[in-house]
Amino acid sequence: MIHGGLTTDDFTGAVTTPIYQTSTYLQDDIGDLRQEYEYSRTANPTRASLESVIADLEHGKHGFAFGSGMAAISAVIMLLDEGDRLILNSDVYGGTYRALTKVFTRFGIDVDFVDTTHIENIEKYIRPETKMLYIETPSNPLLRVTDIKASAELAHKHGLISVVDNTFMTPYYQNPLDFGIDIVLHSATKYIGGRSDVVAGLVATANVDLGAQFAFISNSTGGVLGPQDSYLLIRGIKTLGLRMEQINRNVEGIVQMLQKQPKVQQVFHPSIKEHMNHTIHQNQAIGHTGVGSFEVKDTEAAKQVIHATKYFTLAESLGAVESLISIPVLTTHASIQSGVRAKEGITDGLIRLSIGIEDTEDLVNDLEQALNTLK
Ligand SMILES: *Cc1c(COP(=O)(O)O)cnc(C)c1O
Repeated sequence: MIHGGLTTDDFTGAVTTPIYQTSTYLQDDIGDLRQEYEYSRTANPTRASLESVIADLEHGKHGFAFGSGMAAISAVIMLLDEGDRLILNSDVYGGTYRALTKVFTRFGIDVDFVDTTHIENIEKYIRPETKMLYIETPSNPLLRVTDIKASAELAHKHGLISVVDNTFMTPYYQNPLDFGIDIVLHSATKYIGGRSDVVAGLVATANVDLGAQFAFISNSTGGVLGPQDSYLLIRGIKTLGLRMEQINRNVEGIVQMLQKQPKVQQVFHPSIKEHMNHTIHQNQAIGHTGVGSFEVKDTEAAKQVIHATKYFTLAESLGAVESLISIPVLTTHASIQSGVRAKEGITDGLIRLSIGIEDTEDLVNDLEQALNTLK
C-alpha cells in the first residue's frame, strides 16, 4: 500500500506520484516516443502508477483504472460476445443488475441470477452459452457469503471466466485471485478511495491474455480514470490498512451492542458466528467489511433511529471515513417490489450501516442512544 506503484518520480525525485495532467506526449522524431506514453486514453503515468498498485495488492499482474465502478464492470462484461450468458449472484449490486438487464441484454448478452450461497445451485444454470460466473461476496445488504474457491473451481471445470466484485472486502482482507479467480474488480469509490471524494473503478488479473484484452477494451471504449482522480486513489490506498483496522474495531463494538439490544430483531454481519456461511467467510478473508445491517420493527422505527443518530450521516454509498446510515427499502432496493424484497429477506425495518473510522465509543454510544428512543 505504501511502496507499490511508481513511488518516486525518476525525473525530479518527487516522493509522491506526480499528477501528469496531460493528454499527449512529445515525440522526439516521428513515432519516436520518450517512454511508452503516446496519448492518455491509452496510458498515463499517474494512472499507470495506480494500476500497478492495484495489481500488486490483488496479487495479480495487470491492473486497470476506470472512471467508475460501473465503467470497470462494463469493461468486464465487454469480454463477452453476442449470444453469451453469464451467471451472477441474485443479490448483486443494483447498478450491475441495471446495466446487465437494461443495457447489455440489448447487445445479446443474457443473464441468470442465482442464489450462489449454495454452490450446488450454480451448476444447474450452466449451459453451453454460459461464459462467465460473476459473484459479489459478501453481498448487499444482508452480507450473504459465497464460497470463492468453490466458485473458481466450478468456473474452471466448465471453462467460464470467473469474476469477483471485491468492493466490500478490499484487497487488505480478501484476495480472490489467490483462490483461482480470473478477475477481481472494485468500486474504488468506496474503501479504496475511502473519503467520499472520488468515483472510480479498478480491475486486476493475473492472466496475461485477459490483461491484453482489458488493455484493448479500455483503450477502445475509453472509460479510463483521469490523472487527478488516479492520484487521489493512490493517496487513499496509503491509509487503506489503517482505516480497515479501525473500521474492524468499530464493527466489533457495534455488533456486540446491537446483539444485546432488545429493540433489534436481527443483526447481519459475517463476523457473527451464526451468520450464513460464517465459516466459509473465515476461510477466505482475514478481516471484515464495515458494512452491516440490522432489523428494527418497521420503517417508522428505522426512520426514528436514523433521525436520532448524531454521527451517522444519512447518505448512499459506503466505505468512507465517516459512518453512513440508510434504509434499503427506501433507497437501494426501492425499485424492487415489496413481495420480492421480503422473499429476499430485505424487510421494511432494515437499517444498513457503513461503519467509518470515528472513535469506537462515540459510535456505539450514539447508535445505542438512538435505539433507546424507540418505545
Ligand atoms: C458502488 C458499487 C458498485 C458501483 O461502483 P460505482 O463506483 O458507483 O460506479 C459496484 N459494486 C459494488 C459492490 C458497489 O458497492
